[in-house]
Amino acid sequence: MHDTRTIFHVDMDSFFASVEQQARPELRGIPIAVSGDPKSRTVVAAASREAKRFGVRSGMAIHDARSRCPQIRFILGDPDKYVHISRAAIDIFHEFSDQVEIWSIDEAFLDVTGWVASHACDVCQEQSERRHRTDLVRSCGAITIAREIKQRFLNVFGPAITCSIGIAPNKRLAKAGSDFYKPDGTVFVFTDTPPTIHSIAGERVRLLRRDHMLNQLDLGDLCGIGARIESRLHSLGIATVGQLATTPVQLLVEHFGMHGATLHDMAIGNDDAAVVTEDAAPKSVGHGATLPRNLLTIDEVGAVVAELAEKVAARLRRYDFLGGTIHATLRYHRFTSHTEQKALAVSTDDGLRIGEVAMNILRRWPWTHPVRYVGIRVSGLIPARPAQASVFPHDERWQRAVRSMDCVNARYGDWTVQRGSVSLHERFLRKVAAAFRATRHLKEGRTLS
Ligand SMILES: [Mg+2]
Repeated sequence: MHDTRTIFHVDMDSFFASVEQQARPELRGIPIAVSGDPKSRTVVAAASREAKRFGVRSGMAIHDARSRCPQIRFILGDPDKYVHISRAAIDIFHEFSDQVEIWSIDEAFLDVTGWVASHACDVCQEQSERRHRTDLVRSCGAITIAREIKQRFLNVFGPAITCSIGIAPNKRLAKAGSDFYKPDGTVFVFTDTPPTIHSIAGERVRLLRRDHMLNQLDLGDLCGIGARIESRLHSLGIATVGQLATTPVQLLVEHFGMHGATLHDMAIGNDDAAVVTEDAAPKSVGHGATLPRNLLTIDEVGAVVAELAEKVAARLRRYDFLGGTIHATLRYHRFTSHTEQKALAVSTDDGLRIGEVAMNILRRWPWTHPVRYVGIRVSGLIPARPAQASVFPHDERWQRAVRSMDCVNARYGDWTVQRGSVSLHERFLRKVAAAFRATRHLKEGRTLS
């Protein structure tokens, strides 16, 4: 139903390193790594594209980076600079869509569905009207927007700060796409027939069929498949995304429960998650599951509710929130759905309590249709405890933040944390700042070698 959307994932290339190279031209064209104090147990926060050619990656230990690339220069990170550029980039994204989801300090999703037609060239606009081919304006407009974003980056930031853009009908495919032609590339992911785009000769644009793209990924590249799930898939003889895509859903469900269907969705690139904009109030945390088979009784649904409630509660605890209102949703096999909510007297992050309240809601409903989807959501969030100053050690946790921030929201792909994304963004920025500040005893901006 959502396949007519046009979603962008914009990912700034080698972000911290590019910002340094833009600020200091003498660093351009050479391998550099941004980090904390290389004499302490810190890791590479970002490697320049020149350093990446030697195999240096973010999250890598300093001594590993140096042994791969002896001439690498280590630059002490400067969070204020990165925050400044990140904010300016967000302003640029807002020139092209009012639906911008900030995903991390250097990544965002844009829903440009409503904006492509006005960006398409005259020829495509005219052709599309005459031949009723909306796909023409969609592809032409999308490529034009991508081109204009890159031009704005060049004008505002300069040549060293570039971005890669994935264009697709959903977030999952867009995110995979932006990774496919780095740096400074644009990847247009299509499903059936390649789009007719008449003006991309000589540009860094690739048109990729979705299954062709997905088949080139490793299981671990799919956001949400961690090492444990990957090894369980391996033990089932599933080693590639292509194999996962052709595995019967039923088999996956037998081994992974309700997440089996989601794993399958990941492999075929299905995703109907919305781009969540800044003002997505009220804040809520939710989990939902499309069921492998229709459920017919309240008892069957109870087992699913219990598991979803535990997951919601785990997320609440992870984000240090208590929830005050429980929402339960059932979607029936004819795609009608029903949602109801109940306010609690006392806010909670207890999965049992959340599950109980959800079941109390569901028991009151007339049980007339087979159920194909169950969702539990908690809103009315309040902080579980007063805010604490965040100390952010700059080795293992730092590595995790840099490398997995983009996966934090997509463990199984089907649950969502709806939040004021700016505040999440701000929280991330503060962590970045704290990590670098731990090494402020070194002179600011000094080059370390
Ligand atoms: Mg990036």
